[in-house]
Amino acid sequence: MHRSPSSDVSRGGAAALISFDEACSVVSAQASAIQAARVSEAANCDLIDALGRRLAVALIADRDQPPFPRVTRDGFAVRAKDLNPDAKLLVVGQIRAGEAWPAGKPPVAAGEAVEIMTGAPLPPGADAVLMVEHTQESESESGVDASGEARLQRWVRPLSGRTLAPGENVVPEGSEARRGDILLEPGSRLGPEQVALAVSCGFLSVPVYPKPNVAILATGDELVNASAQVRSFAATSGESPAAIQPHQIYDSNSHALAALVQQAGGTPLRQRPARDERDDLATCIREGLQAAPLLLVTGGVSMGKFDLVEEVLAGMGAEFFFTGVKMQPGKPVVFGRLPATTDQPARYFFGLPGNPVSTMVTFRVFVAPLLAALAGERNWQPNIAMAKLVADFRTKSGLTRFLPAYLETSSEVPAVTPVRTQGSGDLAANARANCYLIVPEDCDLLSADQMVRVLLR
Ligand code: AMP
Ligand code: MG
Repeated sequence: MHRSPSSDVSRGGAAALISFDEACSVVSAQASAIQAARVSEAANCDLIDALGRRLAVALIADRDQPPFPRVTRDGFAVRAKDLNPDAKLLVVGQIRAGEAWPAGKPPVAAGEAVEIMTGAPLPPGADAVLMVEHTQESESESGVDASGEARLQRWVRPLSGRTLAPGENVVPEGSEARRGDILLEPGSRLGPEQVALAVSCGFLSVPVYPKPNVAILATGDELVNASAQVRSFAATSGESPAAIQPHQIYDSNSHALAALVQQAGGTPLRQRPARDERDDLATCIREGLQAAPLLLVTGGVSMGKFDLVEEVLAGMGAEFFFTGVKMQPGKPVVFGRLPATTDQPARYFFGLPGNPVSTMVTFRVFVAPLLAALAGERNWQPNIAMAKLVADFRTKSGLTRFLPAYLETSSEVPAVTPVRTQGSGDLAANARANCYLIVPEDCDLLSADQMVRVLLR
């Protein structure tokens, strides 16, 4: 799939377009190559700082989990077979969470019960726990003790003929994991759940891959660098700051990309916007490629006279994996690499179309897997779900489409409705949406009530 840049720089011939599925395969082939080539730059990191990063080694169970038969209800540890509607069991002891059954104490015998708390180990002899809500307790005197006080015995009966199966309300020792089991594969992304698991094995820090840097370059003569403007968020109804002209727009894409990179576990390095002019573009692209193993350029990859990104990259000796995909939005998207030199390893780049929704969609489908690979993740998969389409949707076939849509999850079956939009420049509609409805390339009608695929955000 490597193309000669020179044949593509003429821009946009239909022959240069590949299908969406082919483009995904091209990206995943490169992602796999990155993983295979990944050298161990892993470093130990406190769990809280490791959030969002990928494990460099497997997390191994240090002991059986649970390490003892763990009681899951407050109640009475009993022998299940002792429970019958007439059962009356003698309470012979108590175990709190954190306590062990005393060494040498005989196992729970027929007709006996041990008062027990959630999280405590089941005592030997018992095989189930009767929930305290299902019991009735009584006391009776059984003679006097040495000081002449009445000695009381506690009894417990199952309420309303409750019975138990052996094992009820107990998690057997080792049933969640055996010592030495792999709990998380290398490359797993650490979220709060994985943090909890690591701590349950006694780790407070784990070896993780570093966050990859991602250079972000917006291009366009119409762009104003928002960070150069100081504007209070409260002043929404006021006049625009003087420095922005009516024909100019703020560069929102580089901020959108920075947010996407950060969310995906990378470190965004935003550059100043480049002008639609060869020398400035080349300078900015060189800076970006110098700073990071992955450069995201947004804008300047369409058919316009001043869309010069491909041409400039080609002039630097870039190899192009694709220069257009049969998708909408995102058709002019470009993916390639600057080969390794003696001073520098290979650098990847994407040229994302400048329309804000195109930039974000192409990030989610193409950049995310490559970034995940650079971050050390294996087998990255997009977050795709099925939902019921609320109303018929007609379109033209020939392109895989991604439509800003709203997924309603409170209904019995998740239901999706496209959001009314003015197209791939409509940031307001895109922000109102919470997913993208995916229309396959060969499809011109999606019918109401049909199950459809949605790309979750
Ligand atoms: P281009 O891909 O450069 O032809 O740009 C397509 C559309 O996206 C134009 O309307 C641009 O003004 C807009 N656009 C390009 N870059 C940005 C950006 N960084 N932020 C917001 N809008 C942009
Ligand atoms: Mg432009």
